[in-house]
Amino acid sequence: MLISEYDGMFGDARQTSRGQLPCAGGLKRLIWTRRDEGAGREDSQMKIKAAILHERGASLPYAASRPLRIEEIELAAPGPGEVLVRIAAAGLCHSDLSVINGDRPRPTPMAIGHEAAGVVAALGPDVADLEIGDHVVMVFMPSCGHCLPCAEGRPALCEPGAAANGKGTLLSGAIRLFFCDEPVHHHLGCSAFADHAVVSRRSLVKVDPDVPLAEVALFGCAVLTGVGAVINTAKVQAGQSVAIVGLGGVGLSALLGAVASGAGSIVAVDLSDEKLALARTLGATAAINAREADAVEQVRALTGGGVDVAFEFAGSARALDAAYRMTRRGGTTVTAGLPPPEAALAVNIVSLVAEERTLKGSYIGTCVPLRDVPRYIALYKAGRLPVDRLLSGVISLDEINEGFDRLQRGEVVRLVVAFPAASPHGLA
Ligand SMILES: [Zn+2]
Ligand SMILES: [Zn+2]
Repeated sequence: MLISEYDGMFGDARQTSRGQLPCAGGLKRLIWTRRDEGAGREDSQMKIKAAILHERGASLPYAASRPLRIEEIELAAPGPGEVLVRIAAAGLCHSDLSVINGDRPRPTPMAIGHEAAGVVAALGPDVADLEIGDHVVMVFMPSCGHCLPCAEGRPALCEPGAAANGKGTLLSGAIRLFFCDEPVHHHLGCSAFADHAVVSRRSLVKVDPDVPLAEVALFGCAVLTGVGAVINTAKVQAGQSVAIVGLGGVGLSALLGAVASGAGSIVAVDLSDEKLALARTLGATAAINAREADAVEQVRALTGGGVDVAFEFAGSARALDAAYRMTRRGGTTVTAGLPPPEAALAVNIVSLVAEERTLKGSYIGTCVPLRDVPRYIALYKAGRLPVDRLLSGVISLDEINEGFDRLQRGEVVRLVVAFPAASPHGLA
């Protein structure tokens, strides 16, 4: 049995590398395997359209500087433990912006995008628990299942996964993307602003095919990170008071998580009145513009001396300092924002000790993806986690630079690049 629905889509490199590719040169490193052929292999690749970042730190607006170039590149067939996914939808996240502007340095050239959902199109050797046609969401930290954090039940901290992400490879160390025969780095094991991606099986969670894939995409980053920060990292209890500083896709997901957890007072804090108004409609009991000089005092006054748990998602030391000061004695401050690498926080140590404060980091919502994604999708289907309210619009891959301008200006919560042809079930 052929393991791909695309017999012929992965051409033979020896035929396609002459004349049809934009650059000369062999593609001998590319491997395509058929399950029925055992060890028999033939070299092959397919062409995909992807958003490639060649250099970091482009000037704004990106509509003019165009840091992301939509290019036709080669994608090698999935190797052992890997899967070819037809991307249906990929969300624009602030973490992508941090890679584009250089705040989060990653190797280039890189095919970026890390919040996506799609359909399994082909299976590499040794992948026995997925079928072609399965709907999947990508998780941007692959978990090896064997390192100490994985063994401790903390796959978000997987050490080989983090190392591969830092190097811009798949979990196995392989690179499956090439442009003019030169490797193109993978972004967090996903590289999802592309019509197809080859990813580690351990970067995927199978999802319910009933849920629209544009919404499923958000579960891979925004929802896993935001809801997880509330449920897993802080373990917010019914009736507790929370403050949420920074209302991007992750912060608003955390707000939804706080509502679903039965939090009492939920104070939303942001610089944008539009996002504060949206937060109100999503269940925030109070909304405070951080531009107001006494924003921290307002939160403390509203909650009788500070909140039980304050969350910071803005990615700045100033916002984290404010979140810390909004937290009550004995309370917990959680940060999931990713500021530039040199950012530091000055904490009053006496307050940490004498007020028994807790300051915690949260990465991908302290998630266990195989446990949490199905749970959050079930909450969504029950109407208790209305993630669809975070979708600001759908754009095409060619509009991606303009899309990141809109995200950078705070005009949108989540824009999604859609690849409508990729989903046999449609996006809506
Ligand atoms: Zn993200
Ligand atoms: Zn691991």
